[in-house]
Amino acid sequence: MIVIISFFIIHWYLSAFAQSFFLHRYAAHRMFSMSPFWEKFFYLFTFVTQGSSFLHPKSYAQLHLEHHKHSDTEEDPHSPNLFTDVFSMMWHTKRIYFEYREGKRQAPSSFVANMPVWPTLDRVGDSWLTRVVFCAAYTSIYVIFAPSLWWYLLLPIQFLIGPVHGAFINWCGHKYGYRNFDLDDQSKNTFAWDLFFMGECFQNNHHQHPNRVNFAVRWFEYDMVYPVIWLFNRLNIISLKPKATG
Ligand SMILES: [Zn+2]
Ligand SMILES: [Zn+2]
Repeated sequence: MIVIISFFIIHWYLSAFAQSFFLHRYAAHRMFSMSPFWEKFFYLFTFVTQGSSFLHPKSYAQLHLEHHKHSDTEEDPHSPNLFTDVFSMMWHTKRIYFEYREGKRQAPSSFVANMPVWPTLDRVGDSWLTRVVFCAAYTSIYVIFAPSLWWYLLLPIQFLIGPVHGAFINWCGHKYGYRNFDLDDQSKNTFAWDLFFMGECFQNNHHQHPNRVNFAVRWFEYDMVYPVIWLFNRLNIISLKPKATG
């Protein structure tokens, strides 16, 4: 039992970190820079930790910038205020994501040219064979260590860990919680301590300050990824741009 719980928690947090640190704060917003070596390292880290639900960084980044540009309007790729349930919202998001993935769409942003790309890893990560191998690996851990069949209910969450995180963040972050800033959109801060989604549910703070590295703004708020970014900066793994610090 302890193996399954540990496996689930480690997978949850490592993939949430990859999504927030690499896909969101680095690929989409370029809040910090890193050398080609570290870019490849974190690209690979994102592939391994997201596994069966790996999201292509450039497509994610473009989709995300579209969200910022059109937040909670008809053109927002994932506004919960336009859908009756989270599944139809995510289905719509998936369709737009694939349009970016297949090159049918391109975000009108000067950032696009500098977004991280690794075509070989994108091809491997996107292939059904890779996704099936990851799913088989997760399942084999359950076969060996799960004390009963009930534990297998966690498996679909692990198969789709990236979209599961995205569904919670996109739905809750624009629907439930409090606001520090009176913006035109419906963004909210869902939690004061966003312990499950590593700062990503501070949507209201983030929409007000899209280039601010620390998503927590008020004294009682806490963004779990920010201390890691601060440490990486001190260790010269990344370099924070002066305008984007804390
Ligand atoms: Zn948002
Ligand atoms: Zn953002």
